[in-house]
Amino acid sequence: HLSKRLETVSEHVEPGSRLADIGSDHAYLPIYLAKNKIINYGVVGEVARGPLSNAINEISKEGLLDILHPRLADGLAAIEADDQINAITIAGMGGILISQILENGQDKLTGQEKLILQPNVGENIVRTWLMNHQYFIKAEQILEEDHHIYEIITAVKSAQPVGYSAKQLKFGPYLLIEKSPIFISKWREERQQLQRVISNMKRATHEDKPKMKKIEQQIQEIDEVID
Ligand code: SAM
Repeated sequence: HLSKRLETVSEHVEPGSRLADIGSDHAYLPIYLAKNKIINYGVVGEVARGPLSNAINEISKEGLLDILHPRLADGLAAIEADDQINAITIAGMGGILISQILENGQDKLTGQEKLILQPNVGENIVRTWLMNHQYFIKAEQILEEDHHIYEIITAVKSAQPVGYSAKQLKFGPYLLIEKSPIFISKWREERQQLQRVISNMKRATHEDKPKMKKIEQQIQEIDEVID
């Protein structure tokens, strides 16, 4: 049984895709896609030996070693030209790490692949990387599972330069318009946390006025979106 988070990621993988799942751990996502015949070719990339052997065990248990190819590699180095990859999933990591993997793996990107990214935190860093490398955000999703809120960002290479405002990079261009109940509760929680920081700072003897002002600005930005 796949988590709701990974199931939602899987919905963005188009049938017949040649997929690379980077940082796959148990390979649950590519196994699910292969079992459901959504993909018939997948590269399963892992930088660490433990998770790679988890992946190999699960894939062979399911009898999918002819479809899914586990490889020990750092980021997109798992991909070879012959794979003809046209979809890349990177899920369950921080936005900084996802951006680093994309940055360091640029020689592996042909511009033909759909990127399906699920950062646990630091979504703005991922969106900024995409914008700076001329990727257009095609879709976004937000979901809640086990008291965690996750965002999924899919992107494709654009023929023209891409521009997003600071507000769009922070909140997500589509999520910002959609304003779903989960989105509202994510930013309400974020606001509460910032408010707590302010309260603690006010109680402290040495007030850091510039920092406080910055946090107050962040609170105001959130208010403009969720009010
Ligand atoms: N993608 C799965 C998911 O969403 O459930 C597993 C997420 S797990 C928290 C993150 C995995 O990424 C770990 O197994 C880790 O070894 C792997 N990882 C971290 N940095 C990596 C890199 N540069 N290249 C490949 N895998 C990496």
